[in-house]
Parts: sequence; C-alpha cells; structure tokens
Amino acid sequence: MSTCASSPFDHPKADVILRSSDGIDFHVFKLFLTLASPFFQTMFELPQPAVGTTDDTKDGLPVISVQEDSKTLDTFLRFCYPSTLAEDPSLDSLTDILVILGAARKYSLDLIERKVCQALANPKVLEVEPLRCFAIARNARLKHETMTAARYTLRLPLIPVWFAEIKLITSSDLLALLTYHKKCSIAVEPLLANLDWVKSHYGSESGWSWLFPTQTVTDHYGRVTSSECCARNSAAGFKLWTSAAPAAWWVTYMKETFEMLKDRPSGDNVRAEVEKTIQKVRSAGCHICSSRVKENMEEFSNLLALKVEEATAPLLSKYDLRWAGISPRFLLIDVQPHTESPSITSACASSLFDHPKADIILRSSDGIDFRVFKLLLTLASPFFEAMFELPQPAVGTSDDTKDGLPVIQMQEDSKTLDIFLRFFYPSTLSEDPSFESLEDVIAVLTVARKYSLGLLERKVCKALVDPKFLLAEPFSCFAIARYARFEHETMIAARYTLREPLIPARFLGIDLTTASDLLALLTYHQKCSIAVEPLLANLDWVQSHYVDPHGCRWLFCEKSAKSHQRNRRDTDDCKRSTEVEFELWNTPPVAWWVTYMKKTFKTLRDRPTVDNVRVEAEETIQNVINTGCKDCAARVKFNMTKFRDLLTLKVTEATALIKLELEF
Ligand SMILES: [Zn+2]
Ligand SMILES: [Zn+2]
Repeated sequence: MSTCASSPFDHPKADVILRSSDGIDFHVFKLFLTLASPFFQTMFELPQPAVGTTDDTKDGLPVISVQEDSKTLDTFLRFCYPSTLAEDPSLDSLTDILVILGAARKYSLDLIERKVCQALANPKVLEVEPLRCFAIARNARLKHETMTAARYTLRLPLIPVWFAEIKLITSSDLLALLTYHKKCSIAVEPLLANLDWVKSHYGSESGWSWLFPTQTVTDHYGRVTSSECCARNSAAGFKLWTSAAPAAWWVTYMKETFEMLKDRPSGDNVRAEVEKTIQKVRSAGCHICSSRVKENMEEFSNLLALKVEEATAPLLSKYDLRWAGISPRFLLIDVQPHTESPSITSACASSLFDHPKADIILRSSDGIDFRVFKLLLTLASPFFEAMFELPQPAVGTSDDTKDGLPVIQMQEDSKTLDIFLRFFYPSTLSEDPSFESLEDVIAVLTVARKYSLGLLERKVCKALVDPKFLLAEPFSCFAIARYARFEHETMIAARYTLREPLIPARFLGIDLTTASDLLALLTYHQKCSIAVEPLLANLDWVQSHYVDPHGCRWLFCEKSAKSHQRNRRDTDDCKRSTEVEFELWNTPPVAWWVTYMKKTFKTLRDRPTVDNVRVEAEETIQNVINTGCKDCAARVKFNMTKFRDLLTLKVTEATALIKLELEF
C-alpha cells in the first residue's frame, strides 16, 4: 500500500503521481517537473495511457514509479518547485548530497547539480568536513569542487583519521591528495629558512620595533634609560636584519607555527592560532608587549598566512587529477603485455611444453601452443578437472584441433601461461619458475584465483615476501598481499614500507588496495614515527645504559692516559655540542655524536625503521675516523657499533606494539 507524501506534495490539483521506491506517493504538477528537467519534459510528451486503463493510476492520476526513495525524492522535488510553494531543501547533510546528485544527473536537473556544487563549496561545510567534501566531489567528478575541498584539507593533519566517505575514492585519489598536502608543507619551509619577507613588509625600524620591545625608565636623577622589557631569544635562525635579538615569545611563536605548518600547511590555521600567542603574551605580564601584541600579531599572522597561501597556491593548479577514472581493476587488466614472445601464429612453447606424448594443447592469447598433460592439470585444479569432464568434441571434427590434439583457447598470454603451467609439473621435469617482476606475480595470482589453484596462490604468497621485491617495492607487495587477503604477507610488507618515505610515489598495484587500506597503512607508519620521537626528546635511556659518565668516556672525547703523556697536537679535543638538550649528566657530549643523533632522528621521522640507524652509524664512523681526534678515531668503530645496537633495540621496542589496523 502506498501512502501520501506531506505538503506541498499532496496538492488536490496535482496532475501526476510519482511513487518512491518505499511506496510514498508524491502528488506533483507536471509543469514544474517539465520546466526543471528535459528528462521529465520528454517523458510527459510521450503518449500517456488513458486514465483508468492501467493499474498505474490512483485517484484518477497517472502513477509513475521511480527508483529513488522518498527522502531523496522529497529533496529534489523541492528544488523543482517555485520557492513560493516549497522551501529550498537544505543540503547540510553531506550524506544526502551524493544521492541527490545521482538523481539530479539521472533526470538532467542541471540546476540541482549546481546547487549541490554550491553546497559542497560552502565554506561552512568545507571548514568542518573538507575530507568528506573532497571524497564526494571527487566521486561525482566535480573538478572545481574537488580542488577547493583539497585546499581545505590542508587545515587538517597530513594523515587524516578514517572517515566513512573514504570508500567513495580510490587509493590513487587519496595518494594524490596526500602528495599535494606534503608538497604544500615543503613549499612553506623556505619562509622560515629565510625571513626576508618580514623585513620587506615592515620596511623601516619603526615598523618592526615591536619585535624588539624596550621600556624606558627614568631614574632618581631624571636620567632616561631604555632596556629590554622581556626576554629575548638570540637563536641563530631568527636574527632578522639587526644584531639585536627579537622577543623570545615571538621566536616561540614562529617555532610553534612552523611546526604546525609542517603537518597542516594552511594560512587559515595561521590566522586561527595567533590568538593563543596573544593570550600567552598578555598573561606573561609585560605591560609593554601586552598593550600592543593584539594589533601587531594580528597583522603579522595575516602576513604570514598570505605568504603560506602564496607558497602553496601554485601546487593546487598542478594538483594531479590525471589518475582520474582509473577503475580499481585497472592494474589487474592492464598488466604490461609481455611482448618478448614471438607473435607467430600458434608457435610452439619451450621444450617443456612440447612433449610428444602430451594430450592437449592450451593456446595462449598471443598464439603460442602449450602441449600439456591433462592429468597434471586435472590433479592441480578443480577448474580443469570440470572442464575435461565435459564431453570433448571428436578430434578432427572442429577447427580446434592440431596434430590430432584438442586445442583450448586461453585468455592468458604466453608469459603468464609459461610461469603458471610450470607449477603443475613435478620438479623432476621442471624447475619451479621464479617471478621476475611483481607484474608476473599479479598475473599469476589472477590466474591462480580464476582456476582455483590454492597451492599456486601459496607460492605467490612466498614470492611477495621475497626480499628482492620487499626491498624494492614494499608498497606494491603490500597492495598485492592485501588484495589477495594474505594476512601474514600484508603485515611483513607493511613493515618494509617503513623504509620508504611516509607519502610514497605512485606504485604498481596501488588500485588493488582501497583508499581505506592505504590510509590504515600510512596511519601505522605515522604512529611508528611518533613512537620513536621520545627517544630523542629524553635521553635518559642513554644515561641509564652507561650508568655514569665513566661508562661512556668516548661520548665526551675524554683522552686516554697514553695520549696525555705524549701531549701531541693531534690529541686536541673534538668539538663539543653547545645544545643543552643533548647534555648527558649536565655535560656536553662531542658534537659529532649530536650530529649523528639529529640526522638519524630526522630520517626516522619520515622512515621509522632500524635500517636507518645502521646506515647513519656507518657514515658517522667513517667521518670520525677521517676527521676526528686520534682518540675518537681509534675507538669510534667499537663504541658506535655498540651504541647503534642499543638505539636499534630502543627503536624496535618503541615500534613493536604498534599495530596495523586491518581486518582480514
Ligand atoms: Zn615585553
Ligand atoms: Zn675526540
């Protein structure tokens, strides 16, 4: 039974009924639909069945059943009605947008499509839900809206939390978005490295005096002196153009802001975050800074925001949407055809498949004939077993025979057939084939699935964890293993992806994974990076390992007794670090060790795997042997090798408990 829709879709003078998929009847005016949509115009121009002659009438009106549910129908019919009769529906809920858009396209309602676009480009929605807007716009192939939403996602951290609409985009779409994000972060970095833009904005000393705030004091004798009103920071990177050091709170602001921009390179964030600094300066109590911080910092943050936007804008126009429209199965179908095989019509395959006693011929898609034994195929695959049980055409009666053997036309090319047929043969006849490339792996996996070759699938599994592939193409191994639902192999490949930068270059097989799986992988990667950071922030583990400074004299370039006696020139101390954060037992260690730590942790930030610890240690050892003092050069290999092992252990411990959140 159908029920009637509510006002205004219950008008007694309506002349047609649209019945929704859930059985609600909308009494509407043909005129409004005709005006709004060429689709309805055409429909109503067709000869209508006479009223009463079919079941499709109700209350004397023709009934048209549509596929949309009542909620969707309600929304888009309101768009067709004049606003004097029905209020414009709100498209606040992004969930509805995609459904409405689908209906709008189907019924050629251009106006609704434009309204949907407007809803997606509404700053209020974009500010709160940029990723959902991106996914919807991308899915609907709305180029302008996709780009706008992409720009708004810069306000969020690089690796977003999971969101339901991620299923609307492919992993290529996600990777393109994250690559753009990452490039924006990189584009902003020069603004901190070179502060000329601050200088050229303020132009003169009076303009920038707030950065070097001073107070004037009149003493008992009426002498006026001026002094710094609050702490300055003389860190090298923030010297600006005078020798004077700027206010410490401004340096802190710059450091914090650029730290934030590394992850969220958006000018809007710069504008939004400035309030914190204004409050901090005011609560710090310096009345001179407090009185003008709001005005000055609002101007400054606006300037910085504009600079950030300038730096990132060109990347949006370069934003790569060329991966558009690649269907998830693209890479399965589009595996590079193997061209090296001769393309002579029904040439013969290699000697293994040329056996005179073979009893059937499989012909590859590129026309190579493989003479094989039915028995071997039957034993390995239920698919072939079923095929051979079917009645065979009598030999000689059809074109599909050759040399008296039946010929079966296969869809696979000869390279694929050659690899996968070898698996059917006993190892006394044929060596197990090796996979030369991941393309081969994908091709064989596909065949194995198609012909239900469980054992062959397991062999593919093994190939995926072959270090040859894992080291060179860990992301591809992950994508293939995940696609095949090989849990163990997926996890191993995921660990190997930690050796690569967080945001990888586009890789073979990317569209075998979903965007959701790719996001899970990148989230795992980022969690590992974050887990390693405390090891640099707090060096207690170094102290507790060596117990006291005597346990690690090498870290302080302490001389051996022998060198002291000789008092030779080459026993000069190595430079010590000047950075307080690296002091151990309140003593500065050698600078080369601090350099090692910084370099290693910088690498770990992007690639949180112990291999990097090893590589950097080896470099440091060579460096110290070549340029360090004699004492350090003599003992660096022994001590750094041990230290490297300690750090390796710590990094392993820190990341061991982090799980890749995937369900199998
Ligand atoms: Zn001050
Ligand atoms: Zn030394």
